[in-house]
Amino acid sequence: MIQVAESHPLPPWLQPSWSALLGARRADRFPHALLLTGPRGVGKRLLLEALTQTLLCHHQDARGFACGQCADCLLLAAGTHPDRVLVGPDEEGKSGDIKVDAIRALAGTEGLTAHRGGWKLILIDPAHRLNVSAANALLKTLEEPAPSTLICLVSEQPSRLPATIRSRCQCLRLALPTEAEALAWLSPRVPGFAAGTLLRLAHGAPLRAQELADRDRLALRDKLFAGFVAVAQGRQDPLAEAAAWHQADLTLLLDWLAGWVSDLLRLAPYPHPRHPAAPAHSLGQYGPASWLINSDKAQVLAALAARVEPAAGHRFLRRIWQAAASDTSNLNRLLLFETWLLDWARLTTPAMGRPGVP
Ligand SMILES: [Zn+2]
Repeated sequence: MIQVAESHPLPPWLQPSWSALLGARRADRFPHALLLTGPRGVGKRLLLEALTQTLLCHHQDARGFACGQCADCLLLAAGTHPDRVLVGPDEEGKSGDIKVDAIRALAGTEGLTAHRGGWKLILIDPAHRLNVSAANALLKTLEEPAPSTLICLVSEQPSRLPATIRSRCQCLRLALPTEAEALAWLSPRVPGFAAGTLLRLAHGAPLRAQELADRDRLALRDKLFAGFVAVAQGRQDPLAEAAAWHQADLTLLLDWLAGWVSDLLRLAPYPHPRHPAAPAHSLGQYGPASWLINSDKAQVLAALAARVEPAAGHRFLRRIWQAAASDTSNLNRLLLFETWLLDWARLTTPAMGRPGVP
């Protein structure tokens, strides 16, 4: 049978990392433990999936990709391959942590040896959710590597992992593609959407941008943004708006909110009406800025920017970032949103008696 040469199954920006992994494997320099990092939506799991397939397949093609037809490939596709073990947060637990029992189950010859005579893959994802005892247990496993076993840790926040774990892994960090490269890949995959806007909302990560091409999700963003603006303009009650925010996905909401506030600060005019002593320079002249995350909301954000005192705006933004970086599982979300929106209303309301406030 004549096979037509297929295009590369991985996006172009992942191909150098793929070649490096294959090269290491062919040279017999493959690590026992790999820490795969990079921003959300860059393609860590896509690369890991291709790697898992190729390590478990016994009939790879000339480029090193899995055949998709052998018994191992079929088991993997069915999700029943005994040599691929997924370790993730405890589904019953509320903490979202990976618990020690999950790691202890891996220890011992039985857990680390392949059943089908090839590689054994243990995927720990997201690795920064390992709790302290789980991390300690994993450390012991990493210190006694078993042959033909790859322990792969996936994390967007590798700095939250203990240094002792990081130092025992080979680190592979996936970098974002250039904007042109990302758009070339993304545009044909999101017909009917503004690919450039999606890519900005996804902070340049193409797979995340593809995920955002969802009319309901974009409509929710518009709705929450309208509420955010209405609170600032005194047309909406902060507490009522907090109740609406409470229904939204927290990660998404924190990301959008941080984007709105940081764009607003970028659009702040100088000299600022609430900070007249600031030296006059022309930062406010950037116009419909191409460097904004929310370029589609630039006009409204620019109008709000004049009402927010820049230093207070920066403090507000820092609180959002801190919440986004912290463990949000035990957060009283409604209380948090109420506090934030009350502060936001205060920040954007011209106060009596403040110097320079119109
Ligand atoms: Zn195969």
